[in-house]
Amino acid sequence: MANGVIKVSGQVIDEMKRAYQQSIQPTSPTGSVFTAKIDGCVITAYKSGKVLFQGKNADAEVRKWESKGQKQGVKKTTSQAKTHPFSPPENISGLSIIGSDEVGTGDYFGPITVSAAYVRKDQLDQLKQIGVKDSKHLNDNQIVQIAKEIRSLITYSLLILPNEKYNDLQQSGMSQGKMKALLHNQAINHVLEKIKPEEPDGFLIDQFVQPDIYFNHIRGKKMKMNKDRAFFATKAEGIHLSVAAASIIARYAFVKEFEKLSEAVGFTIPKGAGAQVDKAAAKLIQAEGMDSINQFAKVHFANTEKAKKLAGV
Ligand code: MN
Repeated sequence: MANGVIKVSGQVIDEMKRAYQQSIQPTSPTGSVFTAKIDGCVITAYKSGKVLFQGKNADAEVRKWESKGQKQGVKKTTSQAKTHPFSPPENISGLSIIGSDEVGTGDYFGPITVSAAYVRKDQLDQLKQIGVKDSKHLNDNQIVQIAKEIRSLITYSLLILPNEKYNDLQQSGMSQGKMKALLHNQAINHVLEKIKPEEPDGFLIDQFVQPDIYFNHIRGKKMKMNKDRAFFATKAEGIHLSVAAASIIARYAFVKEFEKLSEAVGFTIPKGAGAQVDKAAAKLIQAEGMDSINQFAKVHFANTEKAKKLAGV
């Protein structure tokens, strides 16, 4: 009888439990999370993270999961487990990096803005002094002020996806993830073009999808980024100042677009996608009709239907 053992995180065990949910046995050994019995294999997952596969099809089952497993005996050196081959190296914060980030994907009103920014290692101290940091810790006034200061210091690209275009793409079946990937790729291409012949030590993309999906999304498009030096991480604003700077520039553009929008419609347009947004959208529908929604908002959000109800259309 074939046997296999892998060691995985609690998260992967949860994932396995879901995958085998039809085959979970009513009882399982002491110290285990579950036992599942499928054709030719019994799988037992332990609280320690060890998962045992027994039976003639054990090898095939192990193969499904081993890429998500950790080699035993390897110590984690950071608090975050490496989950893909594009995780940034430990020393990345001190390197010269092109970072990219986007804003506005969860906001009903306003465009998606994407920025890529190149920050050389000799600029890190200066940017820190200016106050460049995770934009979630900065208010809109600080964002505007810092963005103005860094725009003349660093090389960056800024892309704004107008909502009319967004709605067209969305209605043609393109996912928001794909739109973001295309925009990040384009912004990075622009920065590389601008800094030529200089090349960064690496690239850091604030991760919104798994890297393989990112590369899938941009397949067939020109990618100037060197894939061997491409890194993806969530909360990347806190990992390298280039992502923090890109985020500030993207947010600055977003804030400015909101100001323009509010001016155009004659009242303050709220951010986010909450109840205030429904009310503002209803007001807009009553004043300017549904076309204005297509022009100023992401139509497929649930806010549209709520606003229509409020507006009585
Ligand atoms: Mn982000």
